[in-house]
Amino acid sequence: MDCDRACDLLGAYRDGELGVDESAGLAAHIAGCKTCRDTLAEYDRLGRALAAEGRRPMPLSLGPKVRRTLDTEDADGIAAEARSWRMPRTRSGAMAFASRAAMLLVACSLSAGTSWFLATRGDRIEQIERDVVSAHVRSLLADSPVQVATSDQHTVRPWFAGRSDLAPDVKDLASQGFPLVGGRLDYVDGRRASVLVYKRRLHTINVFLWPSPGNADSALRATTRNGYTLLAYTRGGVTTWLASDLNTEELKTLASLL
Ligand SMILES: [Zn+2]
Repeated sequence: MDCDRACDLLGAYRDGELGVDESAGLAAHIAGCKTCRDTLAEYDRLGRALAAEGRRPMPLSLGPKVRRTLDTEDADGIAAEARSWRMPRTRSGAMAFASRAAMLLVACSLSAGTSWFLATRGDRIEQIERDVVSAHVRSLLADSPVQVATSDQHTVRPWFAGRSDLAPDVKDLASQGFPLVGGRLDYVDGRRASVLVYKRRLHTINVFLWPSPGNADSALRATTRNGYTLLAYTRGGVTTWLASDLNTEELKTLASLL
């Protein structure tokens, strides 16, 4: 076994992940190769140092640097960063190799963290989509989709006050082809939502609104679920979801008028 191959296998060897033959071959190489012995010792030292450190929050400045470095494939900067962050300097000849290992550890944990974040966020959005569609369908199955039935915007808004966390701005958009039917309260994503109901020809449109203070404004996101069109956006600390069997373009027109 040559040194390059041995180096590739050292991590797996240390973790007991090699097969019997490969493990024996590598052990024989290590016995006769000071470089690989030193590298393995550095791995052990690094492993102990990381274990002793426990889990510490990653410095905020490091994330963008890792991403930039991975983009440019220039690992030197991040190796220096990892060295200054986690690891005491050492004169060991295996240092460069260990730094690279530390860099990869940082990159792996960052990418795992990012994936976890994205997966969690994806699950959350899917959960809300399901809830919004359920609430929309429930409203269609009920005798009436509204608790306060009126096209008078000046009636609907006060009706929400005291009943809901949010008394939204209400517009009758009949002249634009979206007559206001009324309003109701519903329960979406574990919270009370104020709902405005509009019509477009024979289509019913539910507009769900709830306060989301501190959330940044977001672009309009369109999706379909179970054959229903959904639009979502956050603006001015209010999250809004529109649900209908109307097509996306016409639903976007309503969103732009709200
Ligand atoms: Zn070697």
